[in-house]
Amino acid sequence: MKCLIKTLRENNMKVTPQRIAIFEMLAQTKSHPSAELIYKKLSVDYPTMSLATVYKSLDIFKKSGLVQELNVGENSFRYDANTKSHPHIICTTCHQVEDIHDAVFTDLISIISKNTNYDVTKQQLYFYGICPQCKSDISQAQFAH
Ligand SMILES: [Zn+2]
Ligand SMILES: [Zn+2]
Repeated sequence: MKCLIKTLRENNMKVTPQRIAIFEMLAQTKSHPSAELIYKKLSVDYPTMSLATVYKSLDIFKKSGLVQELNVGENSFRYDANTKSHPHIICTTCHQVEDIHDAVFTDLISIISKNTNYDVTKQQLYFYGICPQCKSDISQAQFAH
């Protein structure tokens, strides 16, 4: 949180309670919410907050390196307070986005650097599939027939 306030001030951005709330929500979740979802959740406590405020704040956070924007192939972007490059897996049924923690990707980056002679600084890896919850929902729906 100190980091947020410091970073915003360093970038000459205003520190507002709404911005703090948006960042706090992102920092506390691993669900990679969209701007719309953040807006929906926070509008309960911040009824005067607009969707445009959420978009603007996310844009500022992104430019200040406080969050990363994920283009998961839907029309809307998803946001992650974990700014380190890491792979994601996305359910094509319920659209949840999860982190993948697997050492194989660390090896992958060194293999790519070695093979291409690039200093790999960033990677965007997305996997798509059907999550365990949706799989069991689907099989239950089949049983019901
Ligand atoms: Zn799912
Ligand atoms: Zn993530």
